[in-house]
Amino acid sequence: MSLFSKKNQTDSGADKTVLAEMALMTIHDGVIITNKNGAVQFINPAAVAMTECATAENATGLDYGLLIKLETKEGRELPENENKLIIAMKTGQSLDRFAACLIGTKSGKRIPIAVSVVVADGGNRIITFRDITKELAEEGEQAEFISTASHEMRTPVASIEGYLSLALNPQTASIDERARGYLAAAHAASQHLGHLFKDLLDVTKLDDGHLRPVFRPVEMVGTVKQISDGYLVAAKNAKLNFQFGANKQNAVGGLDRRLDQVVYGYVDVNFLHEIMDNLIDNAIKYTPAGGSIYVNVLGDGDRVLINVTDTGIGISSDDLQHIFQKFYRADNSDTRTIGGTGLGLYLVKQRVEAMGGRVWAESAFGEGSTFYVSLPRITGEEYEKRMIAINNTNNGGVQPQ
Ligand code: ADP
Repeated sequence: MSLFSKKNQTDSGADKTVLAEMALMTIHDGVIITNKNGAVQFINPAAVAMTECATAENATGLDYGLLIKLETKEGRELPENENKLIIAMKTGQSLDRFAACLIGTKSGKRIPIAVSVVVADGGNRIITFRDITKELAEEGEQAEFISTASHEMRTPVASIEGYLSLALNPQTASIDERARGYLAAAHAASQHLGHLFKDLLDVTKLDDGHLRPVFRPVEMVGTVKQISDGYLVAAKNAKLNFQFGANKQNAVGGLDRRLDQVVYGYVDVNFLHEIMDNLIDNAIKYTPAGGSIYVNVLGDGDRVLINVTDTGIGISSDDLQHIFQKFYRADNSDTRTIGGTGLGLYLVKQRVEAMGGRVWAESAFGEGSTFYVSLPRITGEEYEKRMIAINNTNNGGVQPQ
């Protein structure tokens, strides 16, 4: 029912319009109502205070853009095509909690806010915004705690894993078969914990921008092949056919001919390693014995396109939309028995995007999956130029561009 409905009396006899107005005048969230052209019709006291316009009367009739000036969290001016508030106001589409910094119109003070827009009947826009300083500080403290805790716990876990390896190694210890089973289970669990702590540490570092890519010119086909070769033994142990330089469609015919191509990229090699490790690890984990895995690298215009394809359990379309989210794991009878943290693909996405790339997946439940990573490509000439610049720097010469 509409707030200002015709039935204006509540059951206890109070006037609803008065109650609604009282709520608007006392809440801590800023509320501005404009007409469909963006001219302010109403502004509540919280919005007056946050935008630093002198009084509600002064603001009425002004364009909302004169009151709500937004910047990015990093203090960069928000271009119109990234300013979701302007887009929502223009197009009349609603907006949900867009995070940005509000700049005080008088003092220039910056307040981090989450702003939403709802379009009411008749085209009026209701803009609400909330100061999220406290939430951000709490998030920061939480991240700091997770980061410190993960860091501290990694060392003892590594030591437990090391001692369990020694106990399981016939050359360093003798144990009976029953004990071997228990220790093998403890070893697997300690490895899982080790992964979890490493992933958590990486998540906090990437989230707060501490882990930045260090770009280098890289020959991509050879580099990705080298990383993939590191998985030949693991794939063999899992009874999987592993091919580099092939795709599912041409696997029988052998190598993809376009692989004769030399493809250059400008990437962080450690990031690339972590990305490929995660995708190939997953392909091995989620493909039952007897299946196949294909890794390929192609030059595609100004992009380098890498794909990791498997013939494994696949991902349903419902799960596919969420798999790059933090802690998301598809829940079905197959995945329940396979260990994981739900952080791997989130980290892949963060790292790919930090290098100016894009990652996506195509899959159907029961029919295998293909993960694509597209990264910026450079020409052979650019590669040579940047390599020379790096060599010069190493010899005390100029900085690479
Ligand atoms: P996890 O540690 O659970 O593997 P990820 O973030 O790497 O976490 O993956 C998220 C989820 O996506 C997994 O739990 C799984 O359900 C699904 N997934 C990822 N890769 C594959 C794959 N190659 N085949 C099938 N499902 C996959």
